Amino acid sequence: MNIHEYQAKAVLREYGAPVSEGRAVFKAEEAKAAASELPGPLWVVKAQIHAGGRGKGHFVEESAGPKGGVRLAKSVEEAAEEAKKMLGRTLVTHQTGPAGKQVNRIYIENGSDIERELYLALLVDRQTSSVSVVCSTEGGMDIEEVAASTPEKILSFPIDPATGYQPFHGRKVAFALGLEGKAMKQCVKLMGDLYRAFIEKDMEQLEINPLLLMPNGELKVLDAKLGFDGNAIYRHPDIASLRDETEEDPKELAASKYDLNYIALEGEIGCMVNGAGLAMATMDIIKLKGGEPANFLDVGGGATKEKVTEAFKIITSDKNVKGILVNIFGGIMRCDIIAEGVIAAVKEVGLQVPLVVRLEGTNVEQGKEIIANSGLNVIAADDLSDGAEKIVKAVKG
Ligand code: GDP
Ligand code: MG
Repeated sequence: MNIHEYQAKAVLREYGAPVSEGRAVFKAEEAKAAASELPGPLWVVKAQIHAGGRGKGHFVEESAGPKGGVRLAKSVEEAAEEAKKMLGRTLVTHQTGPAGKQVNRIYIENGSDIERELYLALLVDRQTSSVSVVCSTEGGMDIEEVAASTPEKILSFPIDPATGYQPFHGRKVAFALGLEGKAMKQCVKLMGDLYRAFIEKDMEQLEINPLLLMPNGELKVLDAKLGFDGNAIYRHPDIASLRDETEEDPKELAASKYDLNYIALEGEIGCMVNGAGLAMATMDIIKLKGGEPANFLDVGGGATKEKVTEAFKIITSDKNVKGILVNIFGGIMRCDIIAEGVIAAVKEVGLQVPLVVRLEGTNVEQGKEIIANSGLNVIAADDLSDGAEKIVKAVKG
């Protein structure tokens, strides 16, 4: 689960990280009062969307002369003006895709002076089974680009979970970032605070880009992106309450309400499968046969008819879907339940696209019979390969 920058900064502030004073604004009328609560003389007005690259982004109606989602203002009035201009409009960045994201919240922050912009992140590193630190002197820009063009400017190392964070980790980062004196000490403390926040709040990702070195020799967290482990969110009601559902894919949101493992993709073949491994294999074989999957969906082992119905509705709500492949291997899941769910869903939402069903395993005969007797125009498949071939053929004509 992701949260907004202003929320991330509030979380990090609790752990002692240096962040600027700021106010979140939801309505244009609130902007002036919010800005006047900050001392100035510089204000930063920042669009709050769950995507990075806002500074270099542009609003949809403004193709030329980009004025991005991060703007500096020299007075309360100017800050309020900028906030008004951004609210309700759609910001496009390299992370939002061409459709962009509507800006519904603004963060007005006290502006900082910049000496250098640095990069600092913590993430779960599956290779070393530990939390890893990534840092670079090249902050403020796309870290993927730094990694591609000047990889030597990135330092990355794991923190052994047996020892946890130790001050030498912080010094290692400080040396890599070229920090001295006050900033070096601050870096050692900041790293400890961030590591504690990361572990205690079950984060998957903590990215500060940029971490600012100011002319007065102090550090400041200028931008913050936090991602939390969705499976652990039940342990953190405070974090769960920060969820902004308007930032999520509506199909994924609906799926999460029914406890379905669904991920929206760009292809044209909707997949309903039980078991994550089989779902991956199904996506692979669709590609192998020349199609593109529209989603990943694992309906789970013990799905009910209602759950299957909802899953089917979510798949058909995707405008890109030109065909559906149901691929079920009944182990714990029974084929007749799937068949009933599919029929119930089709009765409710109709069926505008070809549907290929492959059933195997527990109660397969009943399942096939239910579908055969339903009068639906369903293409039956014998096995996975046959099913994938048939749906690709049906979609591509
Ligand atoms: P992003 O573009 O979505 O990553 O948004 P950031 O919060 O990282 O801001 C983008 C850029 O705006 C930063 O890299 C800075 O160069 C600039 N910026 C942000 N806050 C301030 C500030 O307080 N003072 C100054 N001078 N520049 C800022
Ligand atoms: Mg940034």
